[in-house]
Order: sequence, then C-alpha cells, then structure tokens
Amino acid sequence: MNTVSGDSNEVPLGARGAARHFTAAAFWPSLAEGRIPGRLSFDAREARFSSEHGDCALDLAAVELRLGGANDRLVFLSDPKDPASTVFTADMTVLDEPALLKDQRLAEAVSQLRRKRSWQRALLLAVPVGLVLLVLGLWFSRDAIVNVVVRRIPPSVEVRVGDLAAGQLIAPQQIHDAQLQDLLEQLVASLEAVASDQYQYTFALVEDSSINAFALPGGRAALHTGLILEATSLSEIQGVLAHEMAHVQQRHSLRNMASSAGLFLVVQTVLGDLSGLLAVAADGGLSLATLRFSRDFEREADDIGLDLLQAANIDPWGLPLFLEKLQASHEDAGGAVTVISETLDFLSTHPASQERIDRLEQRLAEMAVEPRRVGSGQVELVAFQTALRQYLGSEQTANADEVD
Ligand SMILES: [Zn+2]
Repeated sequence: MNTVSGDSNEVPLGARGAARHFTAAAFWPSLAEGRIPGRLSFDAREARFSSEHGDCALDLAAVELRLGGANDRLVFLSDPKDPASTVFTADMTVLDEPALLKDQRLAEAVSQLRRKRSWQRALLLAVPVGLVLLVLGLWFSRDAIVNVVVRRIPPSVEVRVGDLAAGQLIAPQQIHDAQLQDLLEQLVASLEAVASDQYQYTFALVEDSSINAFALPGGRAALHTGLILEATSLSEIQGVLAHEMAHVQQRHSLRNMASSAGLFLVVQTVLGDLSGLLAVAADGGLSLATLRFSRDFEREADDIGLDLLQAANIDPWGLPLFLEKLQASHEDAGGAVTVISETLDFLSTHPASQERIDRLEQRLAEMAVEPRRVGSGQVELVAFQTALRQYLGSEQTANADEVD
C-alpha cells in the first residue's frame, strides 16, 4: 500500500468523521503552469490542495476568501502575500466547512460572502420578475394607454377613418331618399343642438331588416330600417340615436380599432403618420364585429345618451324601454344564445342588455323622471314609418319591373 493519497493519512479520523474533499482547481506557479485540477480539503490549520502535479497548502491564519468568476460562482482562497498562487472551487458548500467557521476572522469573511451571494441571487431573480411585472403592467394599463393616446388623435383624422369605414359598412345599403333623410336629420338635429362636442353627426339610413344601429369614428352613424319599423314610439329611436352619438363622442369605435390594431399604430397616428391608421380603416379595420363594445363602453354611452336626451327635452325612457322590448323578443326567439350572423343585431353589438336596462331604469327612478304619456311623438313616428314603407315598397316594385 504505497499509493494512498496523503490527505487520508493526515486528516485525523476523529469524532467528526472523514474530512470533506471539494473538487477544486488552482493556479500555483511553483507546481505547474496554468490551471491545475485537483481537490481541496481542510484541517484545523491549513487549506490543502492536492493534484497530480503535487500538493500545496494555505495557512488558514493568513488565507483570504473572495468570490470570483462568472456571476461570482467560484470561491477563491489565497494568501495576500502570494496572490499569484490561488485555489478555487465552484462548490459553494465550502462555505459550510467547519475549519473556516471555527476561525472568527474567516467566519466573518464567510458570512460576508454569503450576504453578497444572497443579494446577487435576489437581483438575478428580480430582473426577470421585474420584466414580467412590467409586461403585465403594460398589458393591464393597455386600455388606459390606448385611451390617452386615442384622445390625442385630431377629429379631422377620425372623420377620414369614419369615411373610409362608411364606404364599406354603410354605402352598399344606404338609402338615398331626400324625404327619409330629412325626417332622420330632424330627429338628430334636436340632439345635436345640445351635444357639446366638435362632431358633425351624419346618420345614414341603411336598408337592413335587423334591428340595429352603429356608430363610426368622426360622427358617421347608421340606423337600420328594421329598427325604425319596429319602434313603437319616437323616443325609442331618439334613445338609440343619443346612445350612438355618445359612442361617437367617447371615440369608442376608434378605441376598439386602436386596441385591436395595436398600440404601435396609435402612436404612429399621434405622431402625425396617418398612413397606417387609414390603411387599416380602408382594409376593413372596422367591421360590425369590432364595433361590438365592452360593458364599460355601453354604460358610458347609456349615461351620456341619457344626459343628451334630458338636455334635448326628449323622453329618456325610450332607451330602456326599447332595450327591454329587444330583450324580450330575444328571449322569445330562444334565449340569449343566438346565431351571430353577418348583420349583428343591436343586442349583440351593444351587449349586457339586462344589466343596462336595470341601470338606466334605476337612474331614471333616482332622478324621478316619469315616462311621458303614450302617444307623444306618434304623429312623427307614423309619418317616418309610412314614408319608409312606401320607399321600400316602391323599391320592390321597381325591382320586380326590372325582372319583368
Ligand atoms: Zn352601444
């Protein structure tokens, strides 16, 4: 037995058992050039390094500890009197070594290194956590950012976006009839007179039997013929008009468009480059599906719409009563789940109806606003509906003539 390594002989096999060995390396010019792989162990007085080039030792009374290497993942041991000779290990459990902890000076050095490492670990963890929080924060404040930025888009740009969208959503089915347009504009005029905003409202009559209305950016809006024919009072139509005007005023469709198109586009627009926004608008960036609004937008449009109706001295009960009627017919038709077709109806494009009805009625009750007597505005309504039916009837006849 002649090749037993030195340390097993030197370490006393006392009560604490065999000394631990740490995989280590050294730069020790007197042993060899460059990095020398080997093992590190301790006894009461020395840190010993053994390698195939030979052994060496550092006096614990003089040794200094420091962290080094990439991310401070190595513990270095060296004697300040001979800094070129150093032993290092990646095994951090070396900091638990009893021989180091027994010496007060080294024990302090060890606890300093530990503190440094836990700070570094906390920092390493904090960077990705911070990034995740930043991304989450941006995501959750996305709507707020969109709102702030969209408000800075000038109305002239909105009008151009609205015109482009109208080309696709309104123009194909728009009714161009002077008498009908005049009747509609009379209804809009009384609301527009009290609206304190910079928009010029242009409501179009769209030939579509579904009960719906929608607003585009910049003041363009559409009323389906189905809605006019199904109304039982003028204030129902006016309620819908006021609600749509509120959507315009609050830039809801532009906000929807901006949210779905991305923040980049909005920022680009605010910086004065309209090409992106106009390209999206021309490319069908606003469809009836993107005109479907959130509950918050609907509540906002209801509240502002109600104020407009009150200011214009129009019976504000028209809006909740109209919603109630739609809701009831929806339920008759088989409940809330209906097939969403190309022509989304008012309840699908302006959702959360029951909640909205309750809210509107509660608000009106709080303001002690009574519904007006049945029959107010009936003459105008009947005139409007009769003119519309005549127009649609003559159109059918014209079509039939063409077929003949
Ligand atoms: Zn709405």
